[in-house]
Amino acid sequence: MWVLRYNARMAGYPKFCKRYATLPSSFYESVEPTPVANPCLIWGNGPLGQFLGMEQGWQDTTDALGLFSGNHVQDGSAPLAMAYAGHQFGHFVPQLGDGRAILLGELLGHDGQLYEVQLKGAGQTAFSRRGDGRAAIGPVIRETLLSEAMFALGVPTTRVLATLSTGETVVRDRALPGGIVVRVAKSHIRFGTFEYFAAREDKESLRALVDFVMGKYYVDFAPVEWADLDAVSAGLLGFFDGVMARQIALVSKWMGIGFIHGVMNTDNMSITGDTIDYGPAAFLDEFNPEKVFSYIDTGGRYSYGNQAAILRWNLGVLGHCLSGLFEEGGSRRAFWAHIESRLEAFEGGFARAWQTEMGRKFGLTITEGETDSGNSLQDDGAIINEFLGILDDTGADFTVAFRGLYDAYVSGELGVMGPTLERWWERWQARLVAQGDSQDVVAERMRVANPYIIPRNHQIERVIQAAEAGEYGPFYEMMLACEAPYETRGAFEKYAMPPEPDARVKNTFCGT
Ligand code: AMP
Ligand code: MG
Repeated sequence: MWVLRYNARMAGYPKFCKRYATLPSSFYESVEPTPVANPCLIWGNGPLGQFLGMEQGWQDTTDALGLFSGNHVQDGSAPLAMAYAGHQFGHFVPQLGDGRAILLGELLGHDGQLYEVQLKGAGQTAFSRRGDGRAAIGPVIRETLLSEAMFALGVPTTRVLATLSTGETVVRDRALPGGIVVRVAKSHIRFGTFEYFAAREDKESLRALVDFVMGKYYVDFAPVEWADLDAVSAGLLGFFDGVMARQIALVSKWMGIGFIHGVMNTDNMSITGDTIDYGPAAFLDEFNPEKVFSYIDTGGRYSYGNQAAILRWNLGVLGHCLSGLFEEGGSRRAFWAHIESRLEAFEGGFARAWQTEMGRKFGLTITEGETDSGNSLQDDGAIINEFLGILDDTGADFTVAFRGLYDAYVSGELGVMGPTLERWWERWQARLVAQGDSQDVVAERMRVANPYIIPRNHQIERVIQAAEAGEYGPFYEMMLACEAPYETRGAFEKYAMPPEPDARVKNTFCGT
């Protein structure tokens, strides 16, 4: 089989830009997708496609099928696999790279920004090592469900443009149908991209990477003036602060909805602060800070409650890479001392972001220090932590309990939560009264912070099993259920329910 080249523009498709391909050749390896036997478009994200310049109904065209299966390559485009390294479970691997993902290029969004379009599962690349470069249908379905649900939940994330089956078989622990996920991101650059060049002491590429990332994604920060040593330090620290702020905002949002990324290796940390690489990612059912789903995470490194600590560790790795831009000696040590002071301030910064995010779930607006009405950050922290403590003790379902709290606030009745919460409830109510917002304002703040529906593991497993048998009805239904997570929609009630004990999912697996 061979790849057809054709002029997709004639078929009404926007032309892929080659922005990443203009970076130095050390950044990537050119590669074309390996065609597949019998591609079928399972799902196309209509609105996202139109946002990226495609015509209405693009999902139904043979051109879309050709492009997104990798069977056709757009004339003049320059597909590639990105180079990156990374710390996996704390151990440095100097070369990872896109082993099963191929960047087609970028498309211009209606917001004037370029978005990278990548095929995941499109065949081997220079970085595949022993891997087959393919993806099984299960991980493809999981990534589609999770990333689109995260988008609907309001969490920064990569998106899915299309989901395909390939008509081929991939062999994992058993033979499975193959799939491709078409992923869209502002950028696929990871902390690990910085590590790749830092480990090689390739300062030229590292500087080009900093310039590219800051110029495209951190435009509010002054670009680094490389000729002036003091200015380099100030510029890089500004960049580091920007990355840290976005990552703190992201991970505190994860905490607020009970999301566990599951594999926060530095190669899975996006430099733009989006959720990326949904491998074993999953949502909490019962509240348990030590919860881990990934079966390889036996030490609990990436547990729900350890995500902030791991983020700090990962930021340390990024800071270390940036320090490699200085000559060994005084200036590098001085820069590293600045990074260390940032890392020391991390805890306080994260605690504030976490409290703001969790506070929204209780209708609270967090105020710094003591307020006129006498509320302090500590008081609010106590209200939040005491409620979480009760969830922990009772093994309550995280999402149901918080949505229940919202319902209880609206109705003014505690219901089944009554006996355990009475004293806590009074303190919380007093705090809300002191805040002075109307009941409607508080209720709305709570509604949009406490989802009715999250993509639950037992439902995802059910959908994947059906998809493995070639049945996609359950997948379509679940996509609809996750589309408006903050609405109470009775028709989708089964997606709001926690699993029966025997349906509870204990482990999730990476896509490999
Ligand atoms: P992940 O655990 O998904 O973050 O992937 C870690 C590394 O393994 C990345 O470099 C992937 O590109 C690579 N990889 C994962 N699965 C495959 C596969 N089936 N074929 C080739 N490379 C893979
Ligand atoms: Mg990865």
